[in-house]
Amino acid sequence: MTLRLHDTATRSVREFTPLQPGTVSLYLCGATVQAPPHIGHIRSGVGFDILVRWLRASHYQVTYCRNVTDIDDKILAVAAAEEVPWWAVAERNQRAFTRAYDVLGCLPPDVEPRATGHVPEMIVLMQRLIDAGHAYAAGGDVYFDVRTFPDYGALSGQRVAHMMAAADTEDNAAKRDPRDFALWKGAKPGEPSWSTPWGPGRPGWHLECSAMSTKYLGSAFDIHGGGLDLIFPHHENEVAQSHAAGDGFARFWLHNGLVRIAGEKMSKSLGNSLLVDAMITEVRPVELRYYLGQAHYRSEIDYAPAALTEAATAYRRIEGFVTRAAELVGTDVVSPDSDSAAVPAAFTAAMDDDLGVPQALALVHETVHDGNAALAVADAAGTAKRLTEARSMLAVLGLDPLAAPWAGGKAGGNLRPVVDALVSVALEQREAARARKDYPAADAIRTQLARAGVAVEDTPRGPRWELSP
Ligand SMILES: [Zn+2]
Repeated sequence: MTLRLHDTATRSVREFTPLQPGTVSLYLCGATVQAPPHIGHIRSGVGFDILVRWLRASHYQVTYCRNVTDIDDKILAVAAAEEVPWWAVAERNQRAFTRAYDVLGCLPPDVEPRATGHVPEMIVLMQRLIDAGHAYAAGGDVYFDVRTFPDYGALSGQRVAHMMAAADTEDNAAKRDPRDFALWKGAKPGEPSWSTPWGPGRPGWHLECSAMSTKYLGSAFDIHGGGLDLIFPHHENEVAQSHAAGDGFARFWLHNGLVRIAGEKMSKSLGNSLLVDAMITEVRPVELRYYLGQAHYRSEIDYAPAALTEAATAYRRIEGFVTRAAELVGTDVVSPDSDSAAVPAAFTAAMDDDLGVPQALALVHETVHDGNAALAVADAAGTAKRLTEARSMLAVLGLDPLAAPWAGGKAGGNLRPVVDALVSVALEQREAARARKDYPAADAIRTQLARAGVAVEDTPRGPRWELSP
C-alpha cells in the first residue's frame, strides 16, 4: 500500500504521488508572531512534524518550508500598546515559537521565510495579477478581483454569491466588489511601509504565503498545510492568487484540527494558561508532545487536564519499558533510525492510511505489553526484539525516549552519569549494610535517597534507580 492523504480540495483521502519521484515539497502556514505560542498553535507544528518524519522514513527527500508572518494588524496593535517597535514584538515572539518547537522535538524546517523579507517577490506576483486583469490598485491598496476567478470558493466549498464582504479593510469603498480581498495595504500614518509601484504599504497576509511558497518550492509543489481555521479566507485566497497568476500551486491540501477548551475555540484569555511555557511546567515536554500528537491530526482536541495526565501516564509506560529493556539488552543492538523498513507492517499500514497515529500508537502499546512480558522472565532475545520494534516506531513519531532531544531528559539531562555515580556509592553502602544485617542503616540510606528525589527499586538484577517524577 502506498501513502494516502486527506485532501481538503477534493474532500477525500487519495493516493499521494509527488510531482517529482522521491521528493516531497511541503509548505506549512506558520506563526503570526503577535504573542507567544499556546498548544493550539503548536499542535499544528507537531502534526506536520510527524508527517515530515513519516515521509523521510518512507525514503522521500522532503523540502519543508514553514513561514513566519512578522507583520500584521495584531503585531502593530501590540507594538503600539507597549510603545515598542513592531519588529521587537515580532522577534520576541518568533524566538518563543522557535523555543516551543524545539522543546517539543519538532524538526526545524529547511527554510523559515519571513514575510517582510519577501516584498520584492510579492511585488512581482501583484504585477503578474494586475497584468492578467485579476488585480487592481485602488485608494493606496491593491485588491484581488474575485469576480475574475470563477473557481473562487472551490477550496472551502462556498459559492461567491453567498459570501460576505472581505473584512480586511476598514472601508470597502475602494473595492470593485466587497468580497475582493487586499493583496497589499496602503501605508497609514505611523505604520511601517515598503515602497511598491502602487505606493508605500505593507503585505497582505494571503499574498505573502503565495509568494514565499512558490519562491522556495516552485510554481507547483506537493503539499500545503495549516490549521482548519485557515481554509477560508486564507487558503482560498492563496489558491485564487496563485492559480489566477498561472501557477499550479499546491497539489494536496492538508488541514489539522483545532484545540478547544470545553468546546470553545481558544481565545486569548482562555489560552494564556495553555501557553507552551506554562504547560511544560505541568508535564514534561515529551509528554506534551505525546498528548498533542496522539489524536488523529484531523480530529479536534478538546483540552482537559485529566486527558493530559492520562497521556503522560501512557507515555511513561512506554518509556518505562524502553528504559528497562535497554538496561537489560543494551541500546547498541537496536537501530534508532527512523526507517519505514524497520517498523512492523501494521504500523506502516496505519501511517500510510492518512497518518493513522492512534492505530500506530496502539501497536506501540501492544509491543510494550509483549516486551514487558519478555522482561518479566528475563528473556533477553524477546526483549531485544520488542525494544527494536518499539523504538523504530517511536522514532517515526518523534517519541523515542533514547533519542534526541529526550535522551537523558528524564533523569537530570547531562547530569545523569554524575548522579549515577553518586547514587551507586550510596547503593553500595546500602548493600554492605544489608550484608551485615544492619537493616535500619540500609533503610535509612533508601529513605535519604527518596528525600533527595531518587526512587530505588529492587529487581532480580539488583537495585535500579530513577528520579521521582
Ligand atoms: Zn499562510
